[in-house]
Amino acid sequence: MATNDLLAMIGRQQDETEFYTPMPTGYRKGHHKYVVVVGTVMSGLGKGIFSSSLAKLLKDKGLTVAPIKMEGYLNIDSGTLNPYRHGEVFVLDDGMETDMDLGTYERLLDQDLGAANFTTNGQILSSVLKKEREGGYLGRDVQVIPHVVGEVKLKLRELGVKSNADVIFVEVGGTVGDYENSFYLEACRQLAYEEGENSVVFVSLTYILEPGTLGEQKSKAAQLGIKRLMEVGIQPHIVACRATHPVKEKVKEKLSMYTNVPMKRVFSMHDVDSIYVVPEMLRDAGMDREVLTLLNIHDRTDQRKEDKARDDWRGFVERINKATHDVTLAVTGKYTSLRDAYASIIKAGEHCSVHLGVNVNFRWLDTAAIDASNVDKRLSGCDGIIVPGGFGARGTEGKIECIRFARENRVPYLGLCLGFQMAVIEFARNVCGLKGASSSEFEPGCQHAVIDILPEQKKIEGLGGNMRLGGKEVDVRPGTLAAALYGNAAKIRLRFRHRYEVDPQYIDRLEARGLVFSGKHPTQPIMQIVELPTDVHPFFIGTQAHPELTSRPLNPSPFFMGLVRAAIDHSRQRLAVAAG
Ligand code: GLN
Repeated sequence: MATNDLLAMIGRQQDETEFYTPMPTGYRKGHHKYVVVVGTVMSGLGKGIFSSSLAKLLKDKGLTVAPIKMEGYLNIDSGTLNPYRHGEVFVLDDGMETDMDLGTYERLLDQDLGAANFTTNGQILSSVLKKEREGGYLGRDVQVIPHVVGEVKLKLRELGVKSNADVIFVEVGGTVGDYENSFYLEACRQLAYEEGENSVVFVSLTYILEPGTLGEQKSKAAQLGIKRLMEVGIQPHIVACRATHPVKEKVKEKLSMYTNVPMKRVFSMHDVDSIYVVPEMLRDAGMDREVLTLLNIHDRTDQRKEDKARDDWRGFVERINKATHDVTLAVTGKYTSLRDAYASIIKAGEHCSVHLGVNVNFRWLDTAAIDASNVDKRLSGCDGIIVPGGFGARGTEGKIECIRFARENRVPYLGLCLGFQMAVIEFARNVCGLKGASSSEFEPGCQHAVIDILPEQKKIEGLGGNMRLGGKEVDVRPGTLAAALYGNAAKIRLRFRHRYEVDPQYIDRLEARGLVFSGKHPTQPIMQIVELPTDVHPFFIGTQAHPELTSRPLNPSPFFMGLVRAAIDHSRQRLAVAAG
């Protein structure tokens, strides 16, 4: 709906009634249903994994699902958040920079998401303030209730229209009781009231304590957490208990009794070895059926689709942890909070490990401590090297040493974004003899800025001086390693998040010495993939994109599959040499 229509409608509603329910055009009340997932007791329960697993079960049944993560912070997006504090910045196909949880949804649902699937307090407040400036509230004082809360409801319903979803999965960030998430809860409460019976299911994900000194499960914290939810007027329909061990019947009975949730809807969600078994665990416990009943949508499911989806998924799950061979990939990342800062790389490795039947181990290297004198020691025993994305100068010289080592010793190499740029710099310096080659990002006055900021090119793409963000088409040169990885596709789509790129004036010099730019922008001289010919090096490739973001369990990233395959060959040779 055009903003003006919406504003007029908001005004009309305010004159006539106490209800404040801005409705997007095309909204089908009764068609779009909601599952709202909230956390109690503590954060870090795996709300995203839980919610995406439940969404997957419904998607497998042929329903259209759309998740949305609602963040309590005031940043408009996650682009400026430090990955070492908040985990990696996950970029969506439409360029939105979001929380890493969106990655969990995309991977488990095997579905591309966009800006409509993510919101923050900052987004909500800024659209309210924008409407206020545009005169949208017609003389009214603008308040958290009804206007801010109304904006949240609008956002949820807009997602319904945009995605045409049968079921929208709303993940409220943080924990019930957090001040910053309280108006999300109020919005969901109102939504449930307005949509009526069988439209909104509230799931309280909670935690059952099991203190080592007692050796038994305690439900009090969970009870109090859920009470807190009931205090804001929300009666959960389902209680899902995270716990170390299967939750005892007695504990479930207590929770059921004190929360008014029938026993059949109190579920044990105890720890399991792998997140990939969570969907089947929920299914075995019957949670999907309860949700369908509560939303009254059993008739929208398709048994044949579900059987097929389950077979495919089972095929994947059955191969987890079956590997007998190991490879080690070195990743040049900083040490702190690695799991979250490089979550997608770890996941991409995991996907390949299942498909190729090999354990992929990561060795994390802080390149600030690497130089020519110790690089061979640091990388000994590695079967592949990844230089991942990054910003700033720290550790870049060490990265160059790692790349030189990989290139000269035929160790499989994959460069991701910054790792692509560093591979070009390494080649320029050590093969083309351009001693002063660098990137103007970390050496502004360098003699050969082979990596530079090129506003002219970005202007053509309509980006000005900003980052290139999101999914973009890449033309692949036939007969190259990149083409082989992608089954000889001539065009592929990759996801980007960068500001700098290869300066086209150096391309001829680099290619003359054997570097191959095998992926390019369809019309501009923007280099997207670089490689060495396979007769020179078994696997040396880098991309300006972030293929780790689009690796999916059933559809792993071709770049990572190629790297791990090459690493397997490398490890076999390494073992053969060691055995004499
Ligand atoms: N810092 C580099 C750039 O902005 C690389 C970015 C990245 O690795 N994501 O171009």
